Amino acid sequence: MNNKIKYFQSIHFKIALVLALILLVTLEIVGAVFVNQLENKNVDSYKKQVQLPTYVNTTLINELSKTNTSKANLGISSLLSDIDNKNSTEVEVVDAKNTVRGTNESGNQSHVGQKNFNPDIKNALVSRQPYNAIKGDLSNNSRYYTVITPLIKSSNNELVGVVYVHANLDSVYKEINQITLIYVAAALVAILAGLLISIVISRAITKPIDEMKQQTLQIAKGDYSGQVHVYGRDELGQLANAVNNLSIKVEESQESTESERQRLDSVLTNMTDGVIATDRRGKVIIMNDEAAASLETTESEAIDRSILDVLGIADEYNLREIIENPDETIIDRSDNQRDLILHAHFSLIQRESGFVSGLVCVLHDVTEQQKIDNDRKQFVSNVSHELRTPLTSVHSYIEALQDGAWKDELIAPKFLKVTQDETDRMIRMINDLLTLSRMDSNTQKINKELVNIKELFNYILDRFDMIIKNDDDKQNTKNYNIIRKFTKIDLWVEVDTDRFTQVIDNLMNNAIKYSPDGGSIICSLYETHNNVILSVKDQGLGIPRSSIPHIFDRFYRVDKARSRAQGGTGLGLAISKEVIQALGGRIWVESTENKGSTFYIALPYEPIEEDLWDEN
Ligand code: ADP
Repeated sequence: MNNKIKYFQSIHFKIALVLALILLVTLEIVGAVFVNQLENKNVDSYKKQVQLPTYVNTTLINELSKTNTSKANLGISSLLSDIDNKNSTEVEVVDAKNTVRGTNESGNQSHVGQKNFNPDIKNALVSRQPYNAIKGDLSNNSRYYTVITPLIKSSNNELVGVVYVHANLDSVYKEINQITLIYVAAALVAILAGLLISIVISRAITKPIDEMKQQTLQIAKGDYSGQVHVYGRDELGQLANAVNNLSIKVEESQESTESERQRLDSVLTNMTDGVIATDRRGKVIIMNDEAAASLETTESEAIDRSILDVLGIADEYNLREIIENPDETIIDRSDNQRDLILHAHFSLIQRESGFVSGLVCVLHDVTEQQKIDNDRKQFVSNVSHELRTPLTSVHSYIEALQDGAWKDELIAPKFLKVTQDETDRMIRMINDLLTLSRMDSNTQKINKELVNIKELFNYILDRFDMIIKNDDDKQNTKNYNIIRKFTKIDLWVEVDTDRFTQVIDNLMNNAIKYSPDGGSIICSLYETHNNVILSVKDQGLGIPRSSIPHIFDRFYRVDKARSRAQGGTGLGLAISKEVIQALGGRIWVESTENKGSTFYIALPYEPIEEDLWDEN
């Protein structure tokens, strides 16, 4: 916007111009009327001066009535010479026969006795009507007043002639022109003075206006420090006061808006929920850090974009639907890197009139809840499924026995064995579930004691060695070979012996279960700076890469049928993980499919200074 006003566009100039024009027009009108009146008056008085006195007309009628022409002409001549000719008036007397009988112009005396050639005189002789007119003479640029008066005898109403008066008006007009000139000069001076005064007056009006303009521009720029000078108590003074008050009001409201904005900002920043506000076209105008983080964007990137695009729900929703029926929805923003499920609650920003001026969306991270919810559903479905399979098979075996198989000495014991195995497995599963449930609710007691982990590990592995040795016919167990790779030093670690034994049992059982007959199981034990690492490595089936992240999940099994056939519950590793975590350690697996798996357990360990023992 160009704020520069050219001078001739300014009010200052316009006021001065208008005042000057008014003055000019007024003086013009006054001048015109004045000059016109002056002219009329002067011409009238001149006409009166030029008019011949009545006695002259009467004398002329008498002279013209005389029959002795020459005597009469003498009389006329002497009468005319007596006429005061200060107005340079030409007087001529013409008789009824159109013969010039006398003139006061000495140069025209030869015309006496001659025929008259003046058509106006001729007309007057014919019409017997008086005639008067002002006519200009272009030859000498003068104006003349002509009066022709018929000379009529009153006794018999006979026209005896006319008297012709021809007067020069130059002196009258000269006087008028002089006065007009003086008037014009005076008018010009008045206009000049008026122009100056109007410039001063308009300056007095526009200066405060100018200052107020400057002040309002300053206010618009956010600078409230200035004050308009109040010049008087008139309307402009009141306006200046109003501008000053406005400046204070705007500053106050700006300050309160600013503090309001800061408050809103800090509320939004400190909120744990994401907040996005849009204008009525759905374009983002505010986004707090939480929302920006959840949506993996920044406020500046999101501003002015459609909220539907920012939320990534443009395919499922349109803005109209949301505005007509603001509701809540679940937005799944999970990707390869992270799980993120957001609960979005929409509401309208509405004015009192009901006009919708925008939209607010509050985003709440429900990933954890959703996960827990899903886990719970999955768990219930898993448990039901896991129990249904053994129960169905137990049910069908019992049915078969009932149907007469009990009498068959060969089949009946087999059926009963299967029934017992399945029931055992169910009991194991229920016990496992109870253990997990106790661990979840922290009611499972962990009795930590300082044990020599090498001794304990050895003791557990000895039991597995014993199983093969004692099982001579090798019918129930697989053949395997346990190799120990232990550190030489004794490592004292705080564990719950029973729970720890359960974990190692589980790892060993799995190593045996998921390995072909006759493999080696390498068990190692070593220490790092602050950890004791135990590992159980088999040469078995291994675990597919995609299953590795889920191996410790409840009920997860790579091959369900195989696990079940082996009497597995799918809960062993889940319990192991809970136990190790409760002991402050970590459990993980490295595995290559068809080559074997290694399960690692790291337990916190503080090396005990040998000297301490010596002292004791
Ligand atoms: P299960 O009772 O089925 O053995 P676990 O929780 O102990 O339950 O193990 C879960 C799954 O992990 C098993 O079903 C199996 O698929 C896989 N698994 C565990 N240990 C091994 C291993 N040493 N080698 C190959 N797969 C294994």
